[in-house]
Amino acid sequence: MSEDNQIKITLPDGSSLEQPAGATLLEIAKSISPRLAKEVLVARVDGQVVDLKSTLSRDAQVEFLTFDDEAGRKAHRHSTSHVMAQAVQKLFPGVRFAIGPAIADGYYYDFETDKNFTPADLAEIEKEMEAIIKANLPFERFEMDRPEALDYFRNNGQTYKVELIEDLPEDANLSFYRQGDFTDLCAGPHVPSTGRLKSVKLMNIAGAYWRGNERNKMLQRIYGTSFPKKSMLEEYLFRIEEAKRRDHRKLGAELDLFSLRDEGPGFPFFHPKGMILRNELENYWREEHKKRGYQEIRTPVILSRSLWEQSGHWDHYRENMYFTKIDEGDFAVKPMNCPGGILIYAGKLRSYRDLPIRLAELGLVHRHEMSGVLHGLMRVRCFTQDDAHIFMLPSQIKDEIIGVIDMINDFYKTFGFPYHVELSTRPEKAMGSEEIWEMATAALRDALEVKGLNYTINEGDGAFYGPKIDFHLEDSLGRTWQCGTIQLDFQMPEKFNLSYIGEDGQKHQPVMIHRVVFGSLERFIGILTEHYAGAFPAWLAPVQARVIPITDRHAEYARGVADRLEKAGVRVELDSRNEKIGYKIREAQAQKIPYMLVTGDKEAGQDAVAVRHRTKGDLGAMPVADFEAMLLEEIKTKAY
Ligand SMILES: [Zn+2]
Ligand SMILES: [Zn+2]
Repeated sequence: MSEDNQIKITLPDGSSLEQPAGATLLEIAKSISPRLAKEVLVARVDGQVVDLKSTLSRDAQVEFLTFDDEAGRKAHRHSTSHVMAQAVQKLFPGVRFAIGPAIADGYYYDFETDKNFTPADLAEIEKEMEAIIKANLPFERFEMDRPEALDYFRNNGQTYKVELIEDLPEDANLSFYRQGDFTDLCAGPHVPSTGRLKSVKLMNIAGAYWRGNERNKMLQRIYGTSFPKKSMLEEYLFRIEEAKRRDHRKLGAELDLFSLRDEGPGFPFFHPKGMILRNELENYWREEHKKRGYQEIRTPVILSRSLWEQSGHWDHYRENMYFTKIDEGDFAVKPMNCPGGILIYAGKLRSYRDLPIRLAELGLVHRHEMSGVLHGLMRVRCFTQDDAHIFMLPSQIKDEIIGVIDMINDFYKTFGFPYHVELSTRPEKAMGSEEIWEMATAALRDALEVKGLNYTINEGDGAFYGPKIDFHLEDSLGRTWQCGTIQLDFQMPEKFNLSYIGEDGQKHQPVMIHRVVFGSLERFIGILTEHYAGAFPAWLAPVQARVIPITDRHAEYARGVADRLEKAGVRVELDSRNEKIGYKIREAQAQKIPYMLVTGDKEAGQDAVAVRHRTKGDLGAMPVADFEAMLLEEIKTKAY
C-alpha cells in the first residue's frame, strides 16, 4: 500500500491508477470513464470475478467486464434469472425455487409449482420482469450463518434451498443476494442493480428433474435470454427465426432434396433433385482435384479385421464401427478411408521420383452414433468424406500443405464462405519423436505464414499421430462449421511399413497427409442448404429455369424455349398446367428456382422471354439467345 491510504489499481493494458483504499469497483470504474461505469457489469480482481460493490483495500490487478466478456455476459444472464424468479414469486405465491444458472445464450430457472406454466404465463412473467428492471432494484449481497439460513428457507417452504445448504460443507460461507422482496442462496457475482438488465425475453418451458435425476421430482424449467440493448435482443431473435426458416431438414423436404426415415436411422436418402446438387458438387470436386495433380481412387466399404487391427482402429475405434462376417472371417465396414488408400500406395514399389502421390477418394464411411445425437444431414451414421491421402518426402511437406490450403481457400470462396484457421499442436500423449513433431508443426506454421493466413493455436490439441490445421467456415447467419482439415501423420506410414526408394537407393518412410475440403459431403450439403436458405446459386440449383406459358395458346412456344435451353445444357422445367400465371410464379418462387421465364403473345412474336429472377424480380423481356448466354455465363462462373 502506498502513502495516504492510497492503493494502486493495475489495468489489463498495464496502465495504473491510484485510488483511496476502500473504494468500490464501481467508483473506480466511474473515475476511469462514465461510459465504462455505465457498461461494466462485474470485475475480475486478481483473477476472481466479483460484484462491482466490492471494495478494494489493497493493490490489485483489475479488469472491468462488460457484456462483451464471457464472465460479464454470464453475470448479466444469471442476474436476469434472479429477476425471473422474483417475478414468478410474485405471480405464483408458494412456488418453490431450485436453481437458476446462466447458460450459453441465456439462463434458466427451475421451479416447482402445481400450476403448469403456459405461454400466456411467460408473457405475464416477462411483463413483471420488465417492471422489476424498470424499478432498478439493487442486488444486495449478505451472509447468514447456517442455522439462520436453514430457518429462513424452511419457514418459506423452500425445500430445495434447504437441501442445497445441507449439502454444503459445515464451514462454508453462505452468501445470499436480495433484490426487492426476493432472496436467493447464491455465490454470485451479480450486476449492481436490475436496471442493468434492460432487455429480457422468455423463450420456452421444459420439464427437468431436480438434479437431473429421473428418480427425483420433475420440475418446470423456464428458459430465457437477456441483453443490455433492445437491438441486440431483436437481432438475436431474428437469427433464431432465420435458423428455423433455414433448417435444412425442413428445406430438404420442401425442395424434395433428401430425407431421413425410420427405416434407416442416420442413413440419408438423396432424392433426384438432391442428387443433382450432390453431383454438381462432386463434378466440381473432381475437376479441381484433377487440375491439382490428384488421382482418384475408390476403395472397398468392407475390409478384413486384420487390416483394422493393423491400422489401430480395432483397438481404438471399435465402438463406432459396424461388423460383418464373410466366409467365417471377421470384416468391418470402414469408418475411415485411410487404410484403403494406404494399400494402394503400398501395392507398388515407389521411388522418390514418384512423390508426392496424391490419392483422392469420395469415400463412403459408416460410423456408429448414438440415436440421440443424430441430426438431419449434420450428424449421420454414414457419409461421404471428400478424402485424400498425400504420400511425400519430408522435404515436400510445406509445399503440399500450401497446395491444400490454396485448394480449400478456392473452394470456400466459390460458396462465399469466410473462414478462420486453427493450428493444433502436439498433445501430451503423442507418438513419434519431439524432432519430428517440431519439424511438422513448423511446416504447417510456415505454410500458414507463407499464405498470410491468420490462425489461432490450439496448444496440445493435435491428434496423437500428428499436428493439424482445421478450417472453420462461417455461414450467412454467422455460425461457424469446422469442415476442412489438413492432418500430418507419421504413425500410419510406420504401422503399414510404407516406403519409397530414395536417391541413395535405400528404403525410406514417406510422410502422409490426410485432408478433407468439404469434410462430409452430406453435412456440407446441409450447411449449404441453410447458408443459402435453399436458394442455391444457379450452378447448383436442381432446376435452373422454369418456362411458364401464360395460357394454353403459348404452350407450344414455351415448349420450344424449354427444348432449346435444355439442349444448351440448362436444367429447365416447363409448367404448362392450366393454372393462373400468378399461382405458377408463386410456386416456382417457393421452389427457389433462379429464373422464371414467362411467355405470352408478345414474347412468342419476338423470340423472347419475360425474365423474372427469384430475388431481383422482373428483369424485363429479352431475346431467348441473350437469356441463354447470360445464364450459361452465370453457371460457368459459379456466381452466387
Ligand atoms: Zn445468483
Ligand atoms: Zn485418412
